[in-house]
Amino acid sequence: MTKIQMKTPLVEMDGDEMTRIIWQLIKDELLAPHIDLQTEYFDLGLANRDATDDQVTVDAAHATKRLGVGVKCATITPNAARVQEYGLKEMWKSPNGTIRAMLDGTVFRAPILVKGIQPVVRNWEKPITIARHAYGDIYKNVEIVVPGAGKVELVYTGADGAEIRELVHEFAGPGVAQGVHNLDSSITSFAHSCFRYALDTNQDLWFSTKDTISKKYDHRFKDIFAEVYEAEYADAFAQAGIQYFYTLIDDAVARVMKAKGGFIWACKNYDGDVMSDMVSSAFGSLAMMTSVLVSPAGVYEYEAAHGTVQRHYYKHLDGQPTSTNSVATIFAWTGALRKRGELDGLCELVAFADRLERATLDTIESGKMTGDLARITTIDNPVTLTTEEFIRAIAERL
Ligand code: NAP
Ligand code: MG
Repeated sequence: MTKIQMKTPLVEMDGDEMTRIIWQLIKDELLAPHIDLQTEYFDLGLANRDATDDQVTVDAAHATKRLGVGVKCATITPNAARVQEYGLKEMWKSPNGTIRAMLDGTVFRAPILVKGIQPVVRNWEKPITIARHAYGDIYKNVEIVVPGAGKVELVYTGADGAEIRELVHEFAGPGVAQGVHNLDSSITSFAHSCFRYALDTNQDLWFSTKDTISKKYDHRFKDIFAEVYEAEYADAFAQAGIQYFYTLIDDAVARVMKAKGGFIWACKNYDGDVMSDMVSSAFGSLAMMTSVLVSPAGVYEYEAAHGTVQRHYYKHLDGQPTSTNSVATIFAWTGALRKRGELDGLCELVAFADRLERATLDTIESGKMTGDLARITTIDNPVTLTTEEFIRAIAERL
């Protein structure tokens, strides 16, 4: 059998702990036998980030911008304990944060649906993808604890000296106040990423804020989305037979609960943080969520939504068998390969991505799965496989 050829390499970002082990297994067992895999390899494992003073993360982001499609393994975001564990020179920043800032992207998270793992919400038949704006609002706030009587004001001083002043509140006693901001440029990028992704995946796009209460701030988001849509996407949406609609966040929540799924829900930063956790837990498992960063320039970076599964890794180091779910990491690879195939006109590569996803889901639906799914499945007598056995079972089916 001749292997599938690639035209452009993928940017491959290796990572840490249990997911690093899964990464190698996926390449050896599922990809290499079928594809003449071409990648530009960057080792984002914590030891190498430390050795390169985190330059490797920056290099990987540049390569992703240049080549257009990347796939990333989960990585450790160092905290004080990790600094000690790895003897780090510094508490390096989150690689995802660095890459997201460089690509100016929006993160889309979607659950992977499989028969036998039922969403808590019975009428959800198709995935609900959350698009979370990743800049500003309360994540860049300034806050004051108001000690006692006095007034809090919001003051803008223009570069030309012009001033805008608004009274926040005339305090009679102690309280709290905060200032938040966002940027037209960031909201515009967010809008482009959402419209583009909706067209790419042929799904309706919903966008929700609280513009009835926040008549200037949230209204700005609503207006920018409407302007970008009318100017650049309305015709393409009509042609694709998909819809964009804006609604209030509380109305969106009520509609989501009654919907069948199969759409993208764009949310402001805080709403997206909260709603993505609600949607992912209601769909069943963090190990069954994919995540893709889409930049307004059309650059794609695929990954799993979960972390490096540290607890399982320590079991593994201790010589004990593990049963870690590799589905989200497999789907990160298939997402990247499919996108590369689409961009390069390689139908065979696209078809391979489809086949690998089908083989993965069929393996689970046949009753063979990892422990996290075996605990929640409605399939009778599921067989719990180890990390390695599960990937080999998929390889056989493939
Ligand atoms: P985690 O890796 O997401 O794992 C948390 C728990 O969720 C696991 O202990 C496990 O539960 C379950 N789980 C997650 N993924 C699973 C899978 N594929 N298969 C089976 N069970 C799975 O989060 P963490 O342990 O809190 O964080 C570990 C490291 O990951 C941290 O250093 C953090 O910085 C990093 N992180 C990276 C990313 C990223 O790169 N995108 C995202 C989040 C966290 P049980 O132990 O009950 O089996
Ligand atoms: Mg959160």
